[in-house]
Amino acid sequence: MEKTAISIKDLHVSYYGNEALNGVSLSVQPGNVVGIIGPNGAGKSTLIKALLNLIPKDKGDIKVLGKAVKEVRKKIAYVPQRNDIDWDFPITVLDAVLLGTYPNLPIFRRPKKKEKEWALECLQRVGMEEFKKRQIGELSGGQQQRVFLARALAQKAELFFLDEPFVGVDVSSEEMIVKVLKDLCCQGKTVIVVHHDLSKANDYFNQLILLNKELISFGEVNEVIQSEIIERAYKGQFAFMKEMGV
Ligand code: ADP
Repeated sequence: MEKTAISIKDLHVSYYGNEALNGVSLSVQPGNVVGIIGPNGAGKSTLIKALLNLIPKDKGDIKVLGKAVKEVRKKIAYVPQRNDIDWDFPITVLDAVLLGTYPNLPIFRRPKKKEKEWALECLQRVGMEEFKKRQIGELSGGQQQRVFLARALAQKAELFFLDEPFVGVDVSSEEMIVKVLKDLCCQGKTVIVVHHDLSKANDYFNQLILLNKELISFGEVNEVIQSEIIERAYKGQFAFMKEMGV
């Protein structure tokens, strides 16, 4: 039987004594594109960062592919929020994607022809190969996001974490990103995406994690998008709910 992609048991995380996640438990099976949704400050980014072992947890147990995160780090690709990246950093598109090959290279070995060809193939998958010599700072928001997705693909990971990949992205980049994520899911990979609202959740994801510090609901998109469940997470933010057509 395939290993559970992510298993979280009774996860508690706080910042300076303020609880951000309170007793979250769930497991995600491979081959799903899962959206993490919930209001601002619900702990969505915190959940991803805890899953990546980037922040300490107060309590709880996290297993990725049946192991502790540090043992499977190479199998996890992370695309941070666009505003967490220094876009003035002088690096070309191709070199940014090549960085994705480093975790799988033997120590002190630089990428060679084989890795360059693979990086180009990854750029092709996101429709960005013609931009390979550009500086990343010269690209539009959508193009930058596609390059970072190509870098994640170059890593040949099993699990992909993306934090708000659709913010500041044009429609054709959005469609391209969604297609690549769905292809990954068809290949049995697992994709976890932080997404700040419910609009298009149906188009983007097949499962949802609905958070508001606690786990409000987890399941197939149509099981989670129910008015009483959404109301519990958004606690009477009626204008928002009306906008979403809930
Ligand atoms: P979301 O991604 O759902 O908007 P976050 O996970 O970013 O929520 O934040 C959850 C809560 O934790 C918020 O109240 C936020 O202010 C707080 N928080 C997040 N990061 C930090 C931090 N580095 N230091 C202190 N508080 C933080």
